[in-house]
Formats: sequence, structure tokens, C-alpha cells
Amino acid sequence: ANLGVSRGTVESAYAELLAEGLITSRQGSGFYVLPHAPGETGGFPRAGGWPAWQDRLRYGGFEAMSAYLPEVSRQTDWIALDGGACDPRLFPMDEFRRLLGQVMRRDGAAAVEYGEIAGFGPLRATLAQVLASQGIQTGPGNILITAGSQQALSLVAGLILPPGSSVVVERPTYAGALDVFRSRNLRIHTVGLDEDGLDVDELEGILRRHKPGLIYTIPNFHNPTGACLSGQRRRQLISLAGRFDVPVLEDDYVGDIRYEGHVQPTLKSLDPDGRVIYMSTFSKMLIPGLRVGFVVADGPVYAHLLRSKRCHDLATCNLIQRALKDYVSVGRYAAHLQRSCTLYRRRRDAMLAALERHMPSGTRWTRPKGGLFVWVNLPEGTKASDLLPKACGKGVIFAPGGNFHLDPAQGEGFMRLNFASNSEEIIEEGIRRLGRAMGGRADT
Ligand code: PMP
Repeated sequence: ANLGVSRGTVESAYAELLAEGLITSRQGSGFYVLPHAPGETGGFPRAGGWPAWQDRLRYGGFEAMSAYLPEVSRQTDWIALDGGACDPRLFPMDEFRRLLGQVMRRDGAAAVEYGEIAGFGPLRATLAQVLASQGIQTGPGNILITAGSQQALSLVAGLILPPGSSVVVERPTYAGALDVFRSRNLRIHTVGLDEDGLDVDELEGILRRHKPGLIYTIPNFHNPTGACLSGQRRRQLISLAGRFDVPVLEDDYVGDIRYEGHVQPTLKSLDPDGRVIYMSTFSKMLIPGLRVGFVVADGPVYAHLLRSKRCHDLATCNLIQRALKDYVSVGRYAAHLQRSCTLYRRRRDAMLAALERHMPSGTRWTRPKGGLFVWVNLPEGTKASDLLPKACGKGVIFAPGGNFHLDPAQGEGFMRLNFASNSEEIIEEGIRRLGRAMGGRADT
């Protein structure tokens, strides 16, 4: 503080130096500068330093997910409307602590062995029952537990999309999916969407012209727009996938977080041929750090996914899966979901009302019936990338639309707002600040 530099800045500088291998830390002693640049340290063959490494690093990805703001420059008093998750204050911490202790006492060492590659059998059996209640007829032998659904996405892409092949995604779509597909050097085709989900006519044209290897879609409360695919379009999508013989990856990341409207059938439940691969996660409805997601697939696809899972990490954390099985099967999960939905619905309404109050004219936004996000169409001529620093200056942050587009320029007129992770009061204040950053209304 005496130097006029905040403690946070110093800590993040040290963290960066550590991450780059330029310094080392010794507990109780301090930080030490390493004698050599990374790649040149003791005994490592010198191959021309960094340039030689550059030639060898094969990762071709593009981190859309983290591109817009380095974590280090975030201020703790900013109102964060940019997050992708739920409210951490709702995590059932006490229950999980108790369950973890209980599982370790009850199951002993079995709880911390590697466990089955497919995932803890009783958890898969429980999930099969839950899925049956949603119209997906499957059994534990067709469910694979993954390290979050992000891993499911990577495994499926790795399995059925060889480099150079092509995939169809919605425009816009989940930034983490774009990351996966880009990192695999795939050709990506995009299909537009409105409040009823993806445009099936446009999709048909793409399928006819490009014969892609996969359609990746988020039918329920789409990230980032909140759109929900209509029943009719679901049927059309399945029939198109059948006609053009294209597999579909259905990402049902928040299907259970619904505030109103009819439950639409999952694509998987409409699929007669095993062409749809279904994935979901406990990250949004429960706790993201559990890193538990799952895939439902049929026939040879399942068998290959299993092999691929073994190559990647042998198995998902056994202990966590056992605790989760207990949590889900005694009805605690259902109760948690109900509590969360009641609260998030109020927060959604608070955000929609605040937008009405504080956004300048010419701004439009979606009214999602579930999920976590509102997608805002900025007034003509306002660019999200110009607005972001101004919003940060007023103490609020949003996710700029470019992040969710293959061509970021197409998302410049949009921003994504998360209504689930803050209280109604904070949402009101956040949107008020945002309105002021946008030039605001005269009366706010
Ligand atoms: N799909 C969508 C649409 C998401 O928003 C996310 C998380 N941001 C994921 C998949 C992956 O989440 P996880 O790995 O935590 O299950």
C-alpha cells in the first residue's frame, strides 16, 4: 500500500511470474528468481529456446471464453453480470460436506479407488431413472460420466470429427464449444436462431451443401440467447438429421432450470435411430466444481466414447460421484432445484424490469423461460467492445456478444447478462450502472 500498488496487483504479478516459470517460491522463505529461462533449465536439451517450442506446440485453439478481460484486471467491487454459472451462495455446502464424510466412512478405500471408467454404477442407474422421467429410455450401460460436460464435448468431437471435417453450430453459440471445435481445426458452419431456436430451413441448406459430420445444438435455454427450441422445430431437426444422416450432439446444460412454459421433449427422446448423443451436467443446477457431467449414447458410439474416456483420464472422481449419487437419490437434488428455480425466476423478472427501467431506447432483449441468461441487442451503432471498458468504469461487467460468434464482429451489437448469480438488489444496481455507461435514460 505504501508504494501505491494494491496487494492484489502484486499477488497477481507474482502468480504470473510463477506460471511462466521465471520465479519459484519456497514456503516460509519467499520468492526466488530462477537462473534460466524456462526450457533451458538443468539438463533439458537446448533446442533453440522459445522459437523451437513454438514450432512444436500443436494447439490451434482460440480461447473465446476468456478473451475479453484478463482475470487480473477485475475489481472486486464490480457487479459481475458476465458469469456463466449460478449463485455460489446457493451451493449446498453443508450437505455435501456431510455426504463426503459419510461416503468415506461407509465405503472406505473403495470410495477412492479409480472406479469404473464409465462412472460409478449406482450413479448411472440413478441418472437412467431421472432420464426416463424425461422420456429418454436408456440404461446405466449407455451413460458415461464425464469430467463436466465440457469433457463430453471434447470426447464426442474427438471421436466423430476428424481434423478438416465440419460441424454445424448455432449463431451465436456457447464459447467453450467454439473453443473445442476450433482447437480441432474443424470447418464450422453456423445456423441462425430466433426465440424458437435454430432456423431449420437454413440448417437444411447447410446440410445439403456441406454434409457436415455433426450438428451441435443447445435446445433448452440456449447459451447465450436463452432461446428454447419449439416442439415443431425439434421434430423437423430430427427428421433432417435422419434424412441427411448427420449425428446430433444435444447439449442440455440447464434443461431442468425452467420458470414457465411447457417442457419440450429432448431431441434424444424423439430420436428413433440412436443418432442423437445427449449430454448434460451438474455444473449449472448444482456445483460446477464437482466436475460431473454425463453423456448418453448408443451402440458403437458409446463403446468408443468409453475407450476415449480411458485414454483421457481413466475415470471421473469416484468419491464425488458417490456423494452425488446419495444427494440425487434421496430427493435432495430435486428440492434444491425447486428452491433455486423459485429464486432465479424472481431474479430473471428483476433483470427484465431493470432493463425496462434503465436501458436507452433502441435496446431490445430476450425473455427467457428458463436458464441463466438474457441476450441484449444494443442500440444501433453501439459496439459491445467499446461499451465494455465504459461499463467497467461504472463498476459493472457483461459478456460481450463477440465471444459467442465464430466471427466476433457479428456479435458486436450484443451482450449476454447473467441474472442467476446476483441478488435482485444487485441486479437492479448493475443494470442501472450499465444504463449509465450506455448514455442512459434521462431519469436514471
Ligand atoms: N455447455 C454449455 C452450453 C455451457 O454453458 C457449459 C459451461 N459454461 C458447458 C457446456 C460445460 O460445462 P461443464 O463442463 O461445467 O459441465
